[in-house]
Amino acid sequence: MMKRKAAVVILAIFLCSVLAVNALAQATDDQELLYLLGSRTSEVAMKELPFDKDDPNILVMTSASYAIIDGQNTDRCIDGVADASGCTVGKGNLLLVHRSRDKPLWFAFFSKNTKECVYLEVNNAVLGKSVDEFNALADGEVFTKIVKENIGADKLLNEPEAWDEKMKAKVFGGGAKPFNNEFTMMTIANAWAKGAPPELIRANQFHNHICPGSASGYLFVKYIDKNLPLEKPSQRYQIIAIKPWCKDDIMQWILEATIGNKNYIAKDLTPEQMKQLPEDAKDVANVVIRWDSATGTGKGIVIAFDWDTAFQMCGDVSRKDLKAFDTHRWWWMRLKMNQWMLDYMDSPETLIHTVKEFDVDGPAELNKLKSAGVNPLVELGVMPASGTTATSTEETPSIPGLCIIAAIAIAGVVAYAARRRKIR
Ligand SMILES: [Zn+2]
Repeated sequence: MMKRKAAVVILAIFLCSVLAVNALAQATDDQELLYLLGSRTSEVAMKELPFDKDDPNILVMTSASYAIIDGQNTDRCIDGVADASGCTVGKGNLLLVHRSRDKPLWFAFFSKNTKECVYLEVNNAVLGKSVDEFNALADGEVFTKIVKENIGADKLLNEPEAWDEKMKAKVFGGGAKPFNNEFTMMTIANAWAKGAPPELIRANQFHNHICPGSASGYLFVKYIDKNLPLEKPSQRYQIIAIKPWCKDDIMQWILEATIGNKNYIAKDLTPEQMKQLPEDAKDVANVVIRWDSATGTGKGIVIAFDWDTAFQMCGDVSRKDLKAFDTHRWWWMRLKMNQWMLDYMDSPETLIHTVKEFDVDGPAELNKLKSAGVNPLVELGVMPASGTTATSTEETPSIPGLCIIAAIAIAGVVAYAARRRKIR
């Protein structure tokens, strides 16, 4: 009896060991395959573009590490790409572009010299292969797409119709509109080629493209650096995005002020509220507070971007182009403005101004500005509260009626003025 029990235990241990060894071998095999896939991608691009290993004029962009294929992460591809091409994260020429986990695994190699870009999209079926099976596959079986296009900014801006056709044909795999893969490649590659600051490039990998909105985020960071710098370890930023746009991905990323850390809040404005903004705050962007936890007080600024100045200085672009998605104008104006804005990275005050400065006297005031249902711009006296502007009525009011309306209006003005005085 005892002998039989012992035999069963030994058999069970043996089977478990076999299964564990098999699982480990499979996991090792999967990792090896991903590494080889990365190497193969670089080798194909080196032939197609062409380029030699360690060429500093080559940029690689990829969705590897974000793309999850059949539950498997794709991080290990990055090492294969880097070892074969010589492009690395540290050198700033291997960019991990944020895409949602369900999107394809792709790689794009761009040459700063020729402005050509080779795009390779991986056939998901290769991830189920053994290393030997993978090695026997032809390039056309490993990739569903191997495409080369010239995406230099000058060429695209001068011949927009031709590129627009290719974008519509999803030459680089398309993706969610409007900020698809084609837009990602052309905006990031051209900004990198023009020598965009590494911080801007890094933050925009999270945003997944570069646009005038995200470039304005970098300019806001520079503006805050100059006008409301952190001076003590007990200080950190508390930011209210109002109204939010692409800038807020960049500012959260660089300033380590994030929604999750509860020091970045976003509040949108309705079209009616936008109409009530004074001219000076027409393109209001953020309420930025330098909060000192040691004193429980803060200093704040309300800042705005001067889009009209930007459109005028850049030339040949307008506010309505922003939404011209039925023509090439939507991407054309963004690419043109991106390249233009890169010349102003060290002079943010050219395009940003302070609408108001204020002090925050305690945590209760700070929390009120951040809380739901409170419009901080009304609270700070930048704009009037909804319903406090004069309204017309078709009926001719009686004299007592007029008196009541006048009394309400005067009370409103007095309250508004008092609030403005308080926060100055
Ligand atoms: Zn954007």
